[in-house]
Amino acid sequence: MPTSTRPDLLLPAEPGQRALARELYALVAQLPVISPHGHVDPALLAEDQPFPDPSQLLIVPDHYLTRMLLSQGVAPAELGVPSLDGSPVQTDGRRIWRRFAEHWHLFRGTPSRLWLEQTFTEVFGVDTRLSPQTADEVYDALAARLAEPDFRPRALFERFNIEVLATTESPLDDLGRHAKLATDGWGGPGGRVVTTFRPDNVVDLEFDGWSTNVDRLGEIAGEDTGRYAGYLAALRSRRAAFIAAGATSSDHGHPTARTLDLGADAATLFDRARRGRAEPGDAEAFRAHMLLEFARMSLDDGLVMQLHPGAVRNHNRWLHARHGRDVGGDIPQVTEYVHALAPLLDAYGNDPRLRVVVYTLDEDTFTRELAPLAGGYAALLLGAPWWFLDSPEVLRRFRETVTETAGFYNTAGFVDDTRAFCSIPVRHDVARRVDAGFLARLVAEHRLPMDEAAETIVDLAYRLPKRVFKFGEIS
Ligand SMILES: [Zn+2]
Repeated sequence: MPTSTRPDLLLPAEPGQRALARELYALVAQLPVISPHGHVDPALLAEDQPFPDPSQLLIVPDHYLTRMLLSQGVAPAELGVPSLDGSPVQTDGRRIWRRFAEHWHLFRGTPSRLWLEQTFTEVFGVDTRLSPQTADEVYDALAARLAEPDFRPRALFERFNIEVLATTESPLDDLGRHAKLATDGWGGPGGRVVTTFRPDNVVDLEFDGWSTNVDRLGEIAGEDTGRYAGYLAALRSRRAAFIAAGATSSDHGHPTARTLDLGADAATLFDRARRGRAEPGDAEAFRAHMLLEFARMSLDDGLVMQLHPGAVRNHNRWLHARHGRDVGGDIPQVTEYVHALAPLLDAYGNDPRLRVVVYTLDEDTFTRELAPLAGGYAALLLGAPWWFLDSPEVLRRFRETVTETAGFYNTAGFVDDTRAFCSIPVRHDVARRVDAGFLARLVAEHRLPMDEAAETIVDLAYRLPKRVFKFGEIS
């Protein structure tokens, strides 16, 4: 997927560094995409049906977009975001698109604008600048493309040059889509589309329906989840099923980074919670404890752990009540890692067989906490900036703040973390361009020879994420 319309997009403005950055970027522009963390619906690729209209594809599911319009008084229902109670929402794609285009100016300078514009031009070949006046023209051009066979999900997957894409499922998912993908030669271990084990809905006592979820976990796994031992056995069994469906990692979204070994008290706490008698602090303690349990399971079954703390979920209660989870109502909070991760690191931090990729929504922690931790423990790797931190500015600052103590090789590579399938190549391209600019500066300042910068950028774009997330033969 070449980027043709703006070849120097995001490269340094200074001519000397720009020339170096162009050379470095050229080495990675065409490399396959490794996407180890994201939220694309596997049904998309399993069924390979044509995408719906441009609004259902690009606007309705993108909470970066709908939350910005909400901040200016446009109700999510006007943009087609489904309601929990079934109350009517806009379903006419063209109307949604026009409403959105009226507010396009809100996205000036944001990464959302960059991704969408690049998606229009590079993925769909639509060069008309979006504005309230051109809304229909852009909509019609996109809709025409979506009707072509080359714009089916699997055809785009090929064109995007994606080598591996990880989706995210809960242990309660039957993995039917991934089974279909495996049958079609797209999934399974070593496949092109793999799953990720995301157990928050059976681990977090504060998750809606936690106890019912744990019942279902027991049914699916054939274990007695009325007891803690059976609960752990059920989790182990689901992990094995996920690994059979190609999973190489687990993913844990917690409010904080706290870890804790409750020892024998874990079973007592679990019993209490299952009887509906959880005490204040139990939810946080149990989440923290389960990270140690999952680390132990990882040592046995090899799943890479991803930990992304720091989101206050459903902060916008009005939005949560009307439209549910994951629609833009989450807000970052201050996150502490040094003390929070100590119990996990005390137990397993120096064991190179364990691999924990830590992310943050709190940018302040990169220099002070995360880079020193990742630069000092064998088990720890530093995940790319994501979610609220995925602008080119933060990608640049990430390299500036973590390289000093973590270097390049304690970072885990770029993750797009997206639900928006068509933005995947664009987002990876942005990260590659920013890294080219950063490395060009090191070369220009005579801190790194060009041949080493060249090797580094290929590692960052391709070899490192492939190795960290255990995809393919590279080890
Ligand atoms: Zn994610």
